[in-house]
This record gives sequence, C-alpha cells and structure tokens, in this order.
Amino acid sequence: MKSNNFTIFETIKAASEYLKENNNEIVDYFKESLLLMSYALNVSIEKIIINYENKITEDKQNIFNGYIKRRAEKEPFAYIINNKEFYSIDFFVDKNVLIPRPDTEILVDESLKEIYRLTNKKINSANSYSRQSCNESDIKNNAAKSISIIDIGTGSGAIAVSIAKNCKYPNIEIFAADNSYNALNIAKKNAVLNNVENKIKLTYFNILNPNICWYNEFSKKYNADFYNFDIIISNPPYIISSDINFLSDEVKNYEPCEALDGGIDGLKFYRKIFELFSSAIKDSISSNSTANEFCLLLEIDSRYKEEIKKIFELTFYSKDNNYNNSFEDYKSKINTKDNKNNPINITINFIKDLSGKERVAKINYGKNDN
Ligand code: SAM
Ligand code: GLN
Repeated sequence: MKSNNFTIFETIKAASEYLKENNNEIVDYFKESLLLMSYALNVSIEKIIINYENKITEDKQNIFNGYIKRRAEKEPFAYIINNKEFYSIDFFVDKNVLIPRPDTEILVDESLKEIYRLTNKKINSANSYSRQSCNESDIKNNAAKSISIIDIGTGSGAIAVSIAKNCKYPNIEIFAADNSYNALNIAKKNAVLNNVENKIKLTYFNILNPNICWYNEFSKKYNADFYNFDIIISNPPYIISSDINFLSDEVKNYEPCEALDGGIDGLKFYRKIFELFSSAIKDSISSNSTANEFCLLLEIDSRYKEEIKKIFELTFYSKDNNYNNSFEDYKSKINTKDNKNNPINITINFIKDLSGKERVAKINYGKNDN
C-alpha cells in the first residue's frame, strides 16, 4: 500500500481490498479496517466516519499499514489491538495467552451460581449454629470468605477476573493458576486493570507435575491443600494433538499451542484433574472434614462428553481404576449411620450452551440435598 495523499476513507477502502486478497479468514473486511483505523488514530469510529474526507498524515498511515500488514498475515485482531472483551470486561491479551472465547462465558455463569449456592448453604448452617446471629451482610461476607476457588490454566485470567468482578460477595478468594509465567503476568495485569487484584492469588502450578508445588506471587511457597478449594474451575487445553494442524491459521500460527493441546485424545488434562479431585476428596476424608462440599466445573467439547463421563466413572465408581481406591469405598467410609438418611454423593451433570451443546461438565461432591 502506498502512503500517498489519501483520504481516511480511501485508505480504509484500499486496506479492506488488501485484506480481502490476503486473509480469507476475515468475515467483514471493511469493518476490521475501520476498527484498525480507529485504533491507529486513537479516536472513535464515529469520529472517523465524520472525518472520512480528511487526509491522513503519513505517520498515521504508516502505523495503520503496520496493523493491516499483520492482519493480512492472519495475526488475530485481538493481539493487534491487545484487547478482547469477555463477560463485558476488557482484557489485555497478547501472544502469550489464549484469546478468551465467548463460549467460555457459560463457565463463569455456572461458577457464580455455584458460589452462591455454596455460600447460601454456609449461611444456613452458620445461622443454625448461632442463635442470635449478627447482621445478615456480615454472615454473607464471612461465609463467602470461606469460599475458595481455583482456576486451573487461567491464561489471561478471563475466568478468575470475571468471577472476582461479578461476584456479589466481596470476600471470596480465587487462585489463578498456570504453568506459564508469561500468562501469569498477563493475568496479574488484568486483575490490576479491573481492580480485583486483592481477590486474586496468582499461583504457579503445573497440573501434570505429580509433585504439586504452590507458589504465591511467583516466589514464596504457598501452602494450599487441594481439598481446601470449594470450587475447582478449568478450561483446560482439549484439542486432540493431531487436530491442531486443522485449526484456522489464526489459531494454529499465533495462539500458544500449550493452551490448546490436550494430548493424543484431547483428554489428558481431564484425567489429571479428576485424579486431583479424587485425591482432594480422599484427603478431606482422612482429615475428617466430611462436611466439605466440592464442585468441579470444566469446559468441554460436547463431542467428548461420553469419554469424559467414562473417565469420571472410572475415577470414582470403578473397582479397578487407576487411582487405587473406588468411590464406593470412600462412600462407605463417609456414610456412617449418622448421615445414613442424607448420604454423601458424587454426581456429574452436563450444562448446555445457547446452541444446545454440552459445554460444561459439573461434578458435585456432597450431600444429596443440593
Ligand atoms: N482460562 C483461560 C480461558 O478460558 O480463556 C485460558 C484457557 S487455555 C484453553 C488453557 C490454559 O492452561 C493456558 O493458559 C495454558 O498455559 C494452561 N496450561 C497448559 N498446560 C498446563 C499445565 N500443565 N499446568 C497448568 N496450566 C497449564
Ligand atoms: N475452544 C478453543 C478453540 O476452539 C479451544 C479451547 C481449549 O482447548 N480449551 O480454539
């Protein structure tokens, strides 16, 4: 593209033609060119349209052409403008993190529902212990304080920050965990940008490493037992390794492969997470905190629903599973005659997204009166 004496409109038009010739993954060429112009000139779309017939300066044209060139090479739009809206919140993104997908918003919805459900349960049991309770908001905040959440594979922090920003109880704590320091730095940036850094504990954690190491703020070892989390959330990598080549160029050439690759059958992270969940339950039992309830919320690809259910059953209900113990054994240990009428159970449910596809697997451990 030449940087002659063009008007803003002519420049946008030429850029949109150039994109059309070079990037077949774009849906609306003109709109993207217009948006990139707005970003290059740092003014609103409305202002651009009003000033269509003005000439563009050579400096600004060079900046704009730089963006268009990157877009023509199929770099994702969100990386060029370093921004992606998720759950109506602006997130900083760059090549170190997966661009949050609208599909993942339902995981935030379900997590908030679960936080409220568990909080209400805690409020009810707190009320039944204290004859003359203090004011209700104190109880709510105290109960919510004891709700501890971990977001495994937090990436940009999209899930953790959205929960922190939208949860109506101020005192929840959310561990935003990843094994990528670069991603953790971006999650931190997003927590700060959204004023929720006091609710988010950035945590280095490699789920595939059997020696679980917890670090807070990347340096101090943080002593957190898995069973202390009430809610475990994850949108793990779940693309089958050999399918990565078939993803769009935008995704496969630019987004971090470690954020997408779920191993030979796409399910390696689910196995590991179920295994951890199962040992959290075991630890909880051996520490005699049988009143605990846990919830696991995982984003899934609906095509693997049955496989994921099988892994769940194998982990918790089969006698000859890989995890040395069956859930039936746990249940007989926990379900003594004291709670015979209201036994502890473990269930899996799938929640559908707006297109009618199963998008979230929800595993609950606790009494049946959920
Ligand atoms: N939570 C973000 C979201 O929903 O947009 C990012 C999800 S992305 C699909 C998966 C994330 O898992 C990436 O941030 C990646 O760095 C992280 N991850 C990959 N392998 C991991 C591991 N072994 N331990 C912890 N996190 C891992
Ligand atoms: N939904 C993402 C994609 O299609 C994959 C996300 C993931 O692996 N968790 O690119």
